[in-house]
Amino acid sequence: MAAYMNDWNIQSRAAACEACGKPFADREAFHTLLFDEHAENLRRMDVCEACWQNQFSDGARERKGFISHWQGIYEAPAPAEDAIQKDTAETLLRKLIEQNDPRYVPAGYILAVMLERKRVLKVKEEVVRDGKRVFIYEQPGTGDIFTITDPALRLDQLEEVQRDVAALLEHGLNPPAPQPVGETPAPVPENQPIVQN
Ligand SMILES: [Zn+2]
Repeated sequence: MAAYMNDWNIQSRAAACEACGKPFADREAFHTLLFDEHAENLRRMDVCEACWQNQFSDGARERKGFISHWQGIYEAPAPAEDAIQKDTAETLLRKLIEQNDPRYVPAGYILAVMLERKRVLKVKEEVVRDGKRVFIYEQPGTGDIFTITDPALRLDQLEEVQRDVAALLEHGLNPPAPQPVGETPAPVPENQPIVQN
């Protein structure tokens, strides 16, 4: 069976150690490990410092099975009232990944590059899966990791994708139906028989 690989996905930071189950405290140091088990997606695992020391830090990475590792600081989730979101490049990227429409893979890649330049996302790792370049980005505030496959755009495709991204940023993913320009139409009751005098 040929392994199917998703071009992109988001994996959230765990709220507790995935080895021992202990909840992370605010500002606690933890470790993120990425495993390539030749499944659809790379698998993320967040563990506490003690579990890292006891189970994962010794020996070669290959033996432990993970392909990447980094240390992070756990931040307790912000209260809900801080979660007001407008359609920024980041929320747009999240929506595109959620929709999982292959048409938007090039646009998602360009958005991720934009967000990296703005320092909203940080590249944690670059790996090759099934012959494709895959970037692992982290959103340091939430700890989410975004897996984004490089669509290997040709130069002549780039301009069109950049136009798509600009339109998505301006109008959103599901723009409202275009309104007639000029006059505001008077409300017309639908399906009413015309009464002739
Ligand atoms: Zn642990």
